[in-house]
Amino acid sequence: MRLVLLGPPGAGKGTQAQRLVERHGIVQLSTGDMLRAAVKAETPIGLKAKEVMEAGGLVSDEIVVGIIADRLAEADAQNGFILDGFPRTVAQAEALDKMLADKGLELDAVVELVVDQGKLVDRIINRAAEAKAKGEAVRKDDDPEVFKTRLEAYNRDTAIVAPYYKTKGQLQQIDGMAAIDEVARALDAALTKN
Ligand code: AMP
Repeated sequence: MRLVLLGPPGAGKGTQAQRLVERHGIVQLSTGDMLRAAVKAETPIGLKAKEVMEAGGLVSDEIVVGIIADRLAEADAQNGFILDGFPRTVAQAEALDKMLADKGLELDAVVELVVDQGKLVDRIINRAAEAKAKGEAVRKDDDPEVFKTRLEAYNRDTAIVAPYYKTKGQLQQIDGMAAIDEVARALDAALTKN
């Protein structure tokens, strides 16, 4: 199964992707995780991406498309994959289509987790306050102000990716504000439609 999960930061894409990985034996490809690993390892890509990520902006299409192209070529991705956090621009979506077409492949499903952004911001503010009260560190890109910048980047550059897939007749939308188990059930239902 080849799946794209869409939705703003904090919508629960990572959580749902993890469950699908366990159920379907496919890999989760999160460009956010890959970039964070590159930053930590101080690779040339990591060094380029660090500042942009900490400010809540988008890393260049060239960098993330390169990362995904390399990752899709690896053995464990041949069984199927869930893309989480990619594509984030129409240029990335087009590059993905081309990459798959070159291998004679297609996406099986594109599912958008539809959420209430105001409630997401409240959730992040509460989570940051709780972490602070416990004396725990808040991940820099989950700081409420940075989170708002990430949402702005989503609304400016990424919100247009769902209509891109809708035009191609590939988009399915589910309620991402429901409880985790309910979202998982809706997601399974969306996947079995294909
Ligand atoms: P995430 O964990 O998916 O929210 O990603 C964390 C950060 O990594 C984002 O705020 C961006 O700075 C960067 N990033 C992740 N995926 C992409 C992408 N597909 N295109 C551009 N930047 C990305």
